[in-house]
Formats: sequence, structure tokens, C-alpha cells
Amino acid sequence: MTQRPGHVVVVGAGMVGLATAWYLQRDGVEVTVVDRQGVAAGSSWGNAGWLAPALTLPLPDPAILGAGIKATLSSSSPVYVPPTANPRLLKWLADFTRHCTPGRWRSAMAVFAQANRLAFDAFDQMQIAEPTKAASPFLAAFTSESDRRVLVHEFEQVGDLGGEVAYDLLDAAQIHALEPALGEAVTCGARLHDQRFIDPGRYVRALGEAVVERGGRLVVGDVVGVERVGAGVEVRVGRDRLVADAAVVATGTWLGSLVRPHGVRSVVQAGRGYSFTVRPEHQPVGPIYFPAQRVACTPLGPPGAEDAFRVAGMMEFRKPDAPLDRRRVDAIVAAARPMLRGVDWEARTDEWVGSRPCTVDGLPLVGATRTPGVFVAGGHGMWGIALGPLSGRLLADRIVRGQAHPLLQSFDPLR
Ligand SMILES: Cc1cc2nc3c(=O)[nH]c(=O)nc-3n(C[C@H](O)[C@H](O)[C@H](O)COP(=O)(O)OP(=O)(O)OC[C@H]3O[C@@H](n4cnc5c(N)ncnc54)[C@H](O)[C@@H]3O)c2cc1C
Repeated sequence: MTQRPGHVVVVGAGMVGLATAWYLQRDGVEVTVVDRQGVAAGSSWGNAGWLAPALTLPLPDPAILGAGIKATLSSSSPVYVPPTANPRLLKWLADFTRHCTPGRWRSAMAVFAQANRLAFDAFDQMQIAEPTKAASPFLAAFTSESDRRVLVHEFEQVGDLGGEVAYDLLDAAQIHALEPALGEAVTCGARLHDQRFIDPGRYVRALGEAVVERGGRLVVGDVVGVERVGAGVEVRVGRDRLVADAAVVATGTWLGSLVRPHGVRSVVQAGRGYSFTVRPEHQPVGPIYFPAQRVACTPLGPPGAEDAFRVAGMMEFRKPDAPLDRRRVDAIVAAARPMLRGVDWEARTDEWVGSRPCTVDGLPLVGATRTPGVFVAGGHGMWGIALGPLSGRLLADRIVRGQAHPLLQSFDPLR
């Protein structure tokens, strides 16, 4: 398709699909967004909402192998593979493992460093009712110096590869003075600068409202196929058909079946994560990361009046639609309990499981398929909130003006 499209159907109303829709509208394109459940029904709801370039790194990491595959079979391990894994998952894990080398991590990291430099700007251009919030402070907290050294070493590597990471090291007294909600087990920490966060449910809802206010149509329905027909594209929603000049498939972890017929061979595997909400006696004002426990926490609520605290964690390689496994929630509680004080862990609400759309090489799938007029935006794994708006902008530039930003080469869905 060489001509500028007048009307595009976007399938999936998560951060990635809605940001793509917003940027298409900026360029005067009419959009229809279709989601089988509505806005923020997938992983864009219960995630940690971090816009944290210092931590936005590729998932295939030699450290995962270092921790040992055996550990991943324990139900309380922060990375969990069910012992009855199906052949498709085993193949995905084998391919993923092949990418967990220092060399491949460095190549992927160099791509992330470029994307991270552009990510905030893509948020700032989307003027919507819900702002992004400066994280002051953004704390990482540890029970030992040796755990802290692991993160500091990672920051050094990120810096060597062109990433920007500014931080101070904090002793026990300093970190407890900054954040009274931290538990006695915390003995040292780091304060990261220039990071942001959002309440993802509020933010993505506001983005959906902005798309509708600008004339976008939101349709609730299950998309069962996307096809090239004549000079346009047909999107089958149940028995109905939507006709447009182009379509963008942005269905998160459910990308596979809709894009495989268009030459996209990369498998997107659900890396399921869990979260729940608590109300600590002292409400933290910024995100808190417990790297050794692999637990991420975020204040939730209206900007400046946050009154709840999300606790998130786990990476469970399993089918996206499997039911919530209570053992995973218990494991997060056990890991976080010594790290926070003044929390009634029994009074948690909004227990949630959602799927990070993970690719074997850790890079997103954003761009054209081999079918003219059919595009993909997804596969952002751990970082679809932070990088969703940038992907949306790059893809809109590609669809409307035929501009291919160099990053899109690394994100090529046909790789
Ligand atoms: C515990 C946890 C913590 C996380 N923390 C962070 C974080 O701090 N920062 C960050 O950047 N990222 C984070 N992530 C990752 C982030 O949530 C995802 O990368 C991101 O939400 C993916 O967005 P998406 O729009 O691609 O997919 P989704 O939000 O899953 O949206 C896909 C949509 O497609 C719809 N859909 C699917 N199939 C169909 C169909 N056939 N027809 C119609 N609609 C369909 C679904 O209903 C859904 O609404 C976290 C994830 C988890 C699980």
C-alpha cells in the first residue's frame, strides 16, 4: 500500500493499539478500534505502570540462565515454567534460551537504549487528560550489598551501551528516611533519577476516551480474521465485517493466530505476571523496586492524591487464559512482606493476572506484514507500557507517510 489510508481498523484496545490509533488520528486518519472486551482489558490494566528507561532492558538475559532452569520449576520461583509445558512452549523456551547470551543481550540492549531515549517524547506528544508522573523518588531496595551490586553492574553495562542511568546509592538510614513504608529487612538502596510512572488503568482509559473524543469509533467484538480484499482490508468481527484501507493488529499476547497468515512467524508467548493492591499505613509517593525479590510496586490513584499501592511480580510461562494461580500471589506476598511495613496483607484487593507478550529475542514486533495494508504492533514483553506510545508513533509514521524509522528495522515483524 503506497497511498495514505483514509480509514484504519486497529484491533486491540491496550496501550499499544490505542497509542497507534491516537497517532494515526494526529495524521488525519479515521480510526475504528475493535476489542473483544473493551479498553484496557488485557495486560495494560494490572501492570506496574513504570516508565523507567533505567530498567527498560531486554528480557533474554544470561542472568536468567545463571539462576538455573531447575529453580524455574518451583511454584514460588519468580520465573515459573509448569512441569507439564506443551511442545510449543518448550520450543519457545529453547529459542528464548538461545538469545540469553551476553552478545545477544548487548545487541538488544543497544536497540532498547535508542528506544528509551525517544519514549518520553512519545508520551508528551499525546496530550490526554491523565498525565505521566515524575517518580520522585524511584527507589530500589535491598537486603544486602551483594544484591545491590547486581543492579549496579547492570546499570554499568547499560551505560556502556549508550543507555542513560543516573542514580545515587543510599545507606539504611537514608533509604528509610526517604521511604518510611520500607521494612526492617531493607539495609541499603539506590535512588534512580529521571524516571516516571502512571496508574496504567487510569491512563489507558483516558487514552481510549481521547481517541473517541477525536472521532474514533470503539467497537466491542472478537476479531476472527484480517484479510486483504481488493484495494483494502477486511476485518472479521464475529459475523460482521469492517472494511478499511489498512488494519493494525495489536492484540498483545493473542497476536499469533491473526498475524501468522500474513507471514509473521515469531511466536508471542504469554509471560504471565500477577498483581494486587494494598493500602499501607504510610502511602509511598513513588515506585519501589525489590530487584532480588523481582517485585515491583507503584502508587495508584489520581495524580497527587494516590491512595493505594500496587504490588506486582512473577513471570509464569503458561497459556494466557489459564486461571489465576493463588500460589503465585502467595509467593509475591511472602517475598514482599519483609520489605514493607504497615501493610495488612490479608486486606489486598484487585488480585489480577495478565500476560506480557514476550518474543524470543526480547524485541517488539512493529511494522508491515507481507500482506499489503496489514500491520502489526505488539510483542513488547515487559515494557509495552513504557514503549507503547513510541511504537504507535513510529507505526503511524510508517503507515501514513511511508517513513521507516531505523528502529523499525530491529522491530521488523517478518524477522
Ligand atoms: C505484572 C506485570 C507488570 C508489568 N509492568 C510493566 C511496567 O511497569 N512497565 C511497562 O512498560 N510494562 C509493564 N508490563 C508489560 C505491559 O503490561 C505489556 O507489555 C503491555 O500492556 C502490552 O500492551 P498491548 O497493548 O500490546 O497488549 P494488551 O494490553 O494485552 O492489549 C491487547 C488487547 O487485545 C484484545 N484482544 C485480544 N485478542 C483479540 C481479538 N481476537 N479480537 C479483539 N480484541 C482482542 C484484548 O482484549 C486486549 O484488550 C507489565 C506486565 C505485567 C503482567
